[in-house]
Amino acid sequence: MSTSSASLSAIRRKIEGRERISPTDALLLWREVPDEEMRSLASLVRARFHAPNACTYLLMRIINTTNVCVAQCDYCAFYTLPGQAGGYVLSQEQVFAKIDELLALGGDLAGFNGGFNPQLSLDYYCDLVRAIRARYGDRIELYAFTIAEFLYLADHASLSYTATAERLKQAGVRWITGGGSEILTEDFRLRHSKFKYTVAQFFAAQAAIVATGLRTTATMVIGFDESIEERIEHLDRTRRFQDETGAQESFLCWNFKPWATPLGDKLNNIEITPAEYLRHLALSRIYLDNIPRIRTSVLTQNERALEGLLYGADDFDIPIEDEVTQKAGATINLNFDRILDVARSLGFEPRYRHVALEHTAKAI
Ligand code: SF4
Repeated sequence: MSTSSASLSAIRRKIEGRERISPTDALLLWREVPDEEMRSLASLVRARFHAPNACTYLLMRIINTTNVCVAQCDYCAFYTLPGQAGGYVLSQEQVFAKIDELLALGGDLAGFNGGFNPQLSLDYYCDLVRAIRARYGDRIELYAFTIAEFLYLADHASLSYTATAERLKQAGVRWITGGGSEILTEDFRLRHSKFKYTVAQFFAAQAAIVATGLRTTATMVIGFDESIEERIEHLDRTRRFQDETGAQESFLCWNFKPWATPLGDKLNNIEITPAEYLRHLALSRIYLDNIPRIRTSVLTQNERALEGLLYGADDFDIPIEDEVTQKAGATINLNFDRILDVARSLGFEPRYRHVALEHTAKAI
C-alpha cells in the first residue's frame, strides 16, 4: 500500500469514527479521492444531523438597496462609483414593493445587500429596518446586512462593532449574515478587494455581532483564482470560529459569476464546473463537522444545485432576485415547482423553512 493510500484509509476511518479531519487531510481528500467517494463520505457526515431524505428550502429575495460603492472589488459587476451615472438608492416604497411581491409569492426572507455608499448613514439603515418592522411585523424576516456592509457602517459612523450592532438590534435587526466573506485569506483580499476589510476585521466584527445577541451565518464563494489551500484555509477559519462561538447557523457556498467583471475578463469568463462546485460542497460538509446546516446555491448553480443534497447539503434557496449575481451572469428560475421536483426526483422531501416564524418559535 502506498503512503498516500495508507493516509487516505486513515482519513476514511477518521470520518467514519466521527473524528475531525485536518487541513492536510482535506488537501489529500481533494487531490486523491474520486467524486463518488467524496459524496459518500459527505453523506456520512450529513447523516449525523439529518435524515437521509430530509431537506429544507427557503423562498427569498435579495434586495439590493444601493449599487453605489467605493470598495471596487475586481470580481463585481454590480457597483457604480459615487457620482457616476446609473447609481441608485431604493426608496422605502420601492423596498416595500419588493417585500410585498415576495410575500405574495409565499416567501418570507429578504436579504439586504448593497454597496458601501458614503451617502447612506447608519441612521438611514436603522430607519429602513424600523419602517419594515412597523409595516410587516414578523411576517418577513431580514438577513439585514452582510458582515462586509456592517464593517463599512461601523467605520462610516466611527462606532465600535459592538455599538453598531446594538444600534442595529434596537432598530429591529436580528440577523447579520456572513456575506462578503468570499475567500477568507488576507492574501486573497489584497489581490481582489483590498478596501473590503481584512480577515481579522471580519471575524472581530462577527464576534461582536454574536456577543450582542444577533444571529449569523457563514458563507463562502469559490471559483475566482483561489488555490485549494486558500479554500481549505477559509473552511478552517470558519470551523475555528464555530468552535469558539457555535453561532454560525448555516454555511452557504456559491460560485463566482464572472461576466462583466474585471476579474472575469482576466479569467476569460470561465466558471468552475458544477462537478467542482459539488465536490467542494462535499469537502465543506466533511470539514465543517460543527455546522449542522449546509446550503447549496440554486442562485448560482440552478437545477444542478439540487445534486448538492447528495454531496452533503441539506438546505437550498429559491431566490427570486439578486442583482449582484444576475449582473455577473446568474439566471433566476421562477418555476418553483420545477426546482422542488428536481429535489424530489433525487429522493428528497423538501420542506419549506419559515425563517420569519423562527423568531416566534413557531418554526416546524
Ligand atoms: S462586491 Fe460589494 S463591496 Fe465589492 S464592489 Fe461590489 S458592491 Fe461593493
